[in-house]
Amino acid sequence: MTANSSNPLYRCAGPNCGIVKKANDRWWLMWTSIESFKAPVLYLAPWNEELAQAEGTLHVCGELCAQKLQSQFMGNVRDNQVKGTGRLAGL
Ligand SMILES: [Zn+2]
Repeated sequence: MTANSSNPLYRCAGPNCGIVKKANDRWWLMWTSIESFKAPVLYLAPWNEELAQAEGTLHVCGELCAQKLQSQFMGNVRDNQVKGTGRLAGL
């Protein structure tokens, strides 16, 4: 079997997950941005090959992992508000 370069390997970014995406799995994409609104914003989008390959995009296997990542993001934002670093560690 030869490796298919048009089908890169995606691993779920969910905490304690890390499962590998199969061709027919319906996954989600998440990413954060500060630039657009001058505030940390969390994006969630249905799977899209182009977006999936974009830098900084997180690949998410399902609702549960999306919820965990959202919770992580919210925790990071709170932490940064307390510490005032303005940096989004871990996401
Ligand atoms: Zn997952």
